[in-house]
Amino acid sequence: MLIDSHCHLDFPEFHNDRGQVLERMQAAGVTHALCISVNLEEFPAVVALAETHCNLWATCGIHPDYPDVREASIRDLVEAAAHPRVIGIGETGLDYFRLQGDLAWQRSRFRTHVRAARSCAKPLIVHTRAASADTLAILREEEASECGGVMHCFTEDWDTARVCLDLGFYISFSGIVTFKSAASLREVARRVPHDRILVETDAPYLAPVPQRGKRNEPAFVTYTAAFLATLLKIEAEEFEALTTRNFERLFGVSVAAPQSGVS
Ligand SMILES: [Zn+2]
Ligand SMILES: [Zn+2]
Repeated sequence: MLIDSHCHLDFPEFHNDRGQVLERMQAAGVTHALCISVNLEEFPAVVALAETHCNLWATCGIHPDYPDVREASIRDLVEAAAHPRVIGIGETGLDYFRLQGDLAWQRSRFRTHVRAARSCAKPLIVHTRAASADTLAILREEEASECGGVMHCFTEDWDTARVCLDLGFYISFSGIVTFKSAASLREVARRVPHDRILVETDAPYLAPVPQRGKRNEPAFVTYTAAFLATLLKIEAEEFEALTTRNFERLFGVSVAAPQSGVS
């Protein structure tokens, strides 16, 4: 039993074969996945996936790489998050790599998401790229420790990880940790407490070795999980169980309950 804590199954990359992707996910033992929203326009499609598949959940949020979409108010986010299949707020955060210039709007959007997450008591899914200092400052200033969350597709250094852990956040590793060039990230992974680790694909992006370069899909989270289990010197089953427990604790869901079974 393994959970892909972050994927984008609504994206056009999956329009032609989503059913087969979900079948391969089940066959690989990836029992559940969290489908992440990137803007309000596409939120209904993400929620529809979670409504029609009882092993999928959804989140609600606006990604920092989308400058020209409808902005959400705190109320918009809280209302969307009231849906029973919506278990998190995001993805949100800061990205100074993909976009440059005056990014005050990104910081403002991020603050709105933290306030919404606190207001509805759901965890944040945080994206940060080339912006760790500002990301941490906003998480602190907005008291994000009250709602908690996950630093998704983590690629920062240990100092950043430690601050996130101190704020009560979880650290999610994607296929990047399997890349040859990611030696320093593997050092971070070794130091993260086992009760704070999650795994994800970020599909359709960032397929892990040995699928690197292909379209990623939830089934491939098994490669990242197996890689991390070896890195941490624990059994694969133990790693799957602990990341599943971590996901359940963070998002307040139970995957063992009969009503959460696979349809
Ligand atoms: Zn992201
Ligand atoms: Zn994402």
